[in-house]
Amino acid sequence: MELKFSERAYVPFVSVENMIRLVQSVGAETFMSELADVIEADFKRWELFDKTPRVASHSDVGVIELMPTSDGELYGFKYVNGHPKNTKEGLQTVTAFGLLANVDTGYPILLTAMTLLTALRTAAMSALVGRHLAPKGATTMAMIGNGAQSEFQCLAFRAICGIETVRLYDSDPAATEKCARNLAAAGMNVVSCKTAEESMEGAKIITTCTADKQYATILTGNMIGDGVHINAIGGDCPGKTEIAPDILNRSDIFVEYPPQTRIEGDIQQMADDHPVTELWQVMRGEAAGRTGESQITMFDSVGFAVEDFSALKYVHEKIKDTDFFENLDMLADPEDPRDLYGMLIPSGT
Ligand code: NAD
Repeated sequence: MELKFSERAYVPFVSVENMIRLVQSVGAETFMSELADVIEADFKRWELFDKTPRVASHSDVGVIELMPTSDGELYGFKYVNGHPKNTKEGLQTVTAFGLLANVDTGYPILLTAMTLLTALRTAAMSALVGRHLAPKGATTMAMIGNGAQSEFQCLAFRAICGIETVRLYDSDPAATEKCARNLAAAGMNVVSCKTAEESMEGAKIITTCTADKQYATILTGNMIGDGVHINAIGGDCPGKTEIAPDILNRSDIFVEYPPQTRIEGDIQQMADDHPVTELWQVMRGEAAGRTGESQITMFDSVGFAVEDFSALKYVHEKIKDTDFFENLDMLADPEDPRDLYGMLIPSGT
């Protein structure tokens, strides 16, 4: 049966396989550096974006979230889950897919797998924030939590902040072994550690990226010296935190979008008016970032829709004139827009 639709009804779809080909062709570190620049440019256009805390559906074992935003020209959303128990069942903690649409017509212009892209954008955002807040000349980072996100974090900090050595710790030594193997193959200096304390020796940047659905205390006060930058990734959901309140009290805290971070970030443990600085203001030079050598800065990362919007836009641009996508037939688009029913009538009748 011949269907009636025009060429423009096809939507480019980037599968996991094609995302791998795209990232390999660009190089993961170049990809994250370029994406960091796109995210920064979008954060500098902050007032243009629709902003809302993401829409979350919680269960006892995890969360499923929708993350929409628009700059008035393009609209994007991501579907993402967070299920810390999944790895024990051989599944990912975090999976995602996303869509970009044209605001003028409402038609989708990209559908893409986003599990890898989420790891790349999370790491690009972390390192971008590190470029603004980390102590100058930092060359060593502690990486606590050596799961799916961890190599991306380490490589983004190498590409964007000049980190040369990473000190790894995970409560599961098999995760550290995996991470060390992957990073050594990428040419990083890697030190595997037996405790979180050991991983922080000599590290001016401390990244926490663990997954556990509880008020965890990966970092407590006596573990942290002055003058460090904490990149806190894993506390991103109500009832799921990593950083003890005494560290939050000693730190200057930087966030993506306060209404979402106050619900989901480590600062959910603090009073509703606990002071935070918005990163878009730091990026625009309208708020101070690091102001002194002894200051503890902390990025209370939860992941915000604008970062995914930037990632979708970047991928959409990158796949032009490539074969890193397939055309997906996902829009009914009859030649006569009012003759939708006519599409059901077999041709020739
Ligand atoms: P993962 O399950 O693959 O890895 C998590 C690792 O943490 C595991 O190896 C686990 O053994 C380790 N871990 C758990 N408890 C620990 C503890 N007490 N001490 C040391 N290690 C511990 O998960 P992932 O995909 O790497 O994600 C990590 C976290 O980052 C998740 O909580 C996820 O929700 C979060 N995340 C945040 C963002 C963001 O934008 N902020 C984006 C993606 C993922």
